[in-house]
Amino acid sequence: MKLQSFRTRIAAWYFTIIAASLSIFGVGSWFANKASLYHSIDDSLSDRIEGIKRFMSVQISALSINEIRDEFREHSVLGPGGDLFQVCDATGAWLYRSQPLENNQVPIRLPSQIGNGIVREDIRVAETPLRMASQRILINGRAYTVQVAAPIGEILESLERFRWTLVVFIPIVLLVSSAGGYMVSRRALKPVDEISATARSISIHNLSERLSVPETGDELQRLSETLNGMLGRLNDSVRRMTQFTADASHELRAPIALIRTTAELTLGRRRDPEEYEGAMRDVLVESERTTHLLDSLLTLARGDLGMEALDLIPVDVGAAAREAIEESRTFAAEKSIVIDSSIPDGDLEIDGDSHAMRRLFVILIDNAVKYTYPSGKIRITVGKNSGSIEAAVVDTGIGIAKEDQPHIFDRFWRADKVRSRAAGGAGLGLSIARWIVDQHHGTITVESEPGSGSAFRMSFPATSPDSATHPPASVT
Ligand code: ADP
Repeated sequence: MKLQSFRTRIAAWYFTIIAASLSIFGVGSWFANKASLYHSIDDSLSDRIEGIKRFMSVQISALSINEIRDEFREHSVLGPGGDLFQVCDATGAWLYRSQPLENNQVPIRLPSQIGNGIVREDIRVAETPLRMASQRILINGRAYTVQVAAPIGEILESLERFRWTLVVFIPIVLLVSSAGGYMVSRRALKPVDEISATARSISIHNLSERLSVPETGDELQRLSETLNGMLGRLNDSVRRMTQFTADASHELRAPIALIRTTAELTLGRRRDPEEYEGAMRDVLVESERTTHLLDSLLTLARGDLGMEALDLIPVDVGAAAREAIEESRTFAAEKSIVIDSSIPDGDLEIDGDSHAMRRLFVILIDNAVKYTYPSGKIRITVGKNSGSIEAAVVDTGIGIAKEDQPHIFDRFWRADKVRSRAAGGAGLGLSIARWIVDQHHGTITVESEPGSGSAFRMSFPATSPDSATHPPASVT
């Protein structure tokens, strides 16, 4: 519907532009034609006045008025309507009047009524259109009016014919070109019809379909390619979201099934208080795991929706790292793992969110503890390096195989599902870590050697000196 009106709009614009151009062309050429025809007749009238003037200046002193009249009659100045002229003196007395003008009593201006130039006018004498030119001339100090005329019937007829040609020709050209314009716009917009028909048929169920790309090398081709690119990205997003939902449901099923089984088994018969206590502890562990999983899911889902955008204020990365170390120390001590750190005091500020920063270090340190053998070592460093704050969490753990390294930041990805789940992981920690790093405009990379350990290195743009006057970030 909209497309139809777009095409109509193009046709209407096209019609208006052609109509305006043709009208300007028609009116312009009519006036140009008229000017050219009048120019040539006016030239010949001027020549005739000039001829009469010459004749009079030669003859007037030699001849009497009557002789001049006779001379005029004999040598009537030729040209179109050559005998159509009249001459009078300052009192209005006629020197000469050609018959048709006399018969029709065509008036003449006295010399005193005419300025210096030639007065030109169109008149009608006995239904005959005439072009008339009058001029005051001075001969031997006496003023006369010379008035010459020429019939312009043919000129007017030719102009009329030209006018009719335009009146008939312009609408025909207009119609033909508008029809052509409409057809051209139809042809030009046909691919748009096809694109919109395909686009209408694409929904979430067939997002892998693509629009046909016209090989025209123009905007339509670019538009189709752009839309196809967009469809590709949408398809990927939807696939990731669907995968995320499926993985999330799968991960949630396990602890909930465990809670249910524990409850059913425990309630199956009467038990000792110790057995009830043990069952309740299992339920508690699984509930905590579920809560942790739900928290992670919520963070990622809100991050995807842009709802979890962080409020960035100057934050001390060193302070966040120290807090995370303290938080993880008990967990590390359970495995006799030593956490050693090198974090200078102050001057480690970035524009960030202190809570998210601490969470980032907790995720990395917890992973390091989880995937390091008892009595292993973890080293955390934070430092400044020309305009950026660099941090690293290095462990002497099991390491990550080369082929697994590109996947570790993917959601729900775990190198060893059984080991990871046993350690309480759902494969979301590093996804959240990367999201936090992205939010801080930083980078995170991993270097790892199976059997030797892993090193997670991060880099963040340091707070610029201008914003260093902000109050220090509160660490929650
Ligand atoms: P999980 O909750 O399973 O730890 P993560 O997203 O934090 O999920 O990590 C994804 C996977 O990356 C882990 O399952 C593990 O296989 C691997 N991994 C992460 N950190 C380390 C590490 N420090 N040492 C060895 N493997 C690691």
